[in-house]
Amino acid sequence: MRYSGFRVIKEALTGHKGWQPVWRDPEPQASYDCVIVGGGGHGLATAYYLAKEFRQARIAVLEKGYIGGGNVGRNTTIIRSNYLLDGNEPFYEFSMKLWEGLEQDFNYNAMVSQRGVLNLCHTDAQRDAFTRRGNAMRLNGVDAELLDREGVRRIAPFLNFDNARFPIKGGLLQPRGGTVRHDAVAWGYARGADMRGVDIIQNCEVTGMRIENGRIKGLETTRGFIGAAKVGVAVAGSSSRVMAHAGMRLPIESHVLQAFVSEGLKPVLPGVITYGAGHFYVSQSDKGGLVFGGDIDGYNSYAQRGGLAVVEDVCEGGMSLMPMIGRARLLRIWGGIMDMSMDGSPIIDKTHVEGLYFNGGWCYGGFKATPASGWCFAHLLATGTPHQTARAYRFDRFQKGLMIDEKGMGAQPNLH
Ligand SMILES: Cc1cc2nc3c(=O)[nH]c(=O)nc-3n(C[C@H](O)[C@H](O)[C@H](O)COP(=O)(O)OP(=O)(O)OC[C@H]3O[C@@H](n4cnc5c(N)ncnc54)[C@H](O)[C@@H]3O)c2cc1C
Repeated sequence: MRYSGFRVIKEALTGHKGWQPVWRDPEPQASYDCVIVGGGGHGLATAYYLAKEFRQARIAVLEKGYIGGGNVGRNTTIIRSNYLLDGNEPFYEFSMKLWEGLEQDFNYNAMVSQRGVLNLCHTDAQRDAFTRRGNAMRLNGVDAELLDREGVRRIAPFLNFDNARFPIKGGLLQPRGGTVRHDAVAWGYARGADMRGVDIIQNCEVTGMRIENGRIKGLETTRGFIGAAKVGVAVAGSSSRVMAHAGMRLPIESHVLQAFVSEGLKPVLPGVITYGAGHFYVSQSDKGGLVFGGDIDGYNSYAQRGGLAVVEDVCEGGMSLMPMIGRARLLRIWGGIMDMSMDGSPIIDKTHVEGLYFNGGWCYGGFKATPASGWCFAHLLATGTPHQTARAYRFDRFQKGLMIDEKGMGAQPNLH
């Protein structure tokens, strides 16, 4: 079923009786050519591009819970490509370009809204660093504007410019950055993959891997054994647990990140704003809620909820940047499990097991990567070679010292 304005009008006039389920609910087959583990944004995008762009068939996505229940439906919806390092910038810009055509591509309204991402700076040194990053972005053909204080004031006059302990000195703006309705991304990719014959199997947890003579043969699941010629794992915060079935110990730790939504307010925020002197970033949803977040909780956990210490820290950051939000009520808080890699950058690579591929280490920034991650993982699965924008995302970079350490924090996932 294709969506269109005409269809909406027709359904409205006929009592909305013609809408169909957006994807099927098939029983798993005995075997597939390719099985993707994890029905999050990255797994579903991989299946979608495998079927659409790389013309692969007999594909399944196995999801232990329900589509949209993981981080793809828990993040704060920000997309951007404002990276510094060569290993990252072309990949995230590739993703941005895919976001720009995504809704037409999969014929689903994902509310892609390029309302701008503004990073505030509060010291001269921070402004120098932003200048360097902005120049690197421009050299890669990406939009970047360095704003002085007055430039920021024109966009967001309500910020605490003068009285704050950390006065605002300017900001780096990426006008093409913005937000996307996160769960619609999962639904859009699921629908697009299903339409191309991909079996999306929910409530199907992978509990083991059958590996014979160094080659993957299939997966043990809560719905029985499923044979597979190729397996792609994209399970985000559960990466270490799933890859342990193949005897692998990953350069990844799992941490909790929380998100917050206030009661609905009249439109006030023009786009995404990040505080440079603390851990706080905020945007406003179309329903009016302020959607915000901050730092990870800082301890290893597989719980999808966080601690009150970070709630206080995030709200302090918000109050120091925008004191007026102190009177808004907080409606909802939740947590997601982050797959934090040792240099803060992701991995899209083959493993030592033939036919077994891995996609993970997205830390707290994998939502914006969803389209490119899916495309590049599909490229690797279909062709056996890395996509040109994802060449650097290899396992052996940790062995060879070729870290892609965007933030310069070293091998400390809790600091990235
Ligand atoms: C609070 C919060 C805010 C964030 N904000 C942003 C942001 O603003 N911008 C941004 O770019 N990124 C953000 N992120 C990060 C981003 O959400 C993640 O990096 C990204 O969603 C991870 O990829 P995914 O969508 O595939 O993960 P998920 O949706 O978590 O998908 C992984 C799936 O694997 C399934 N799974 C796990 N184990 C198994 C198993 N054994 N068998 C079968 N299935 C299994 C899980 O159930 C899950 O559905 C945020 C994350 C959180 C939690």
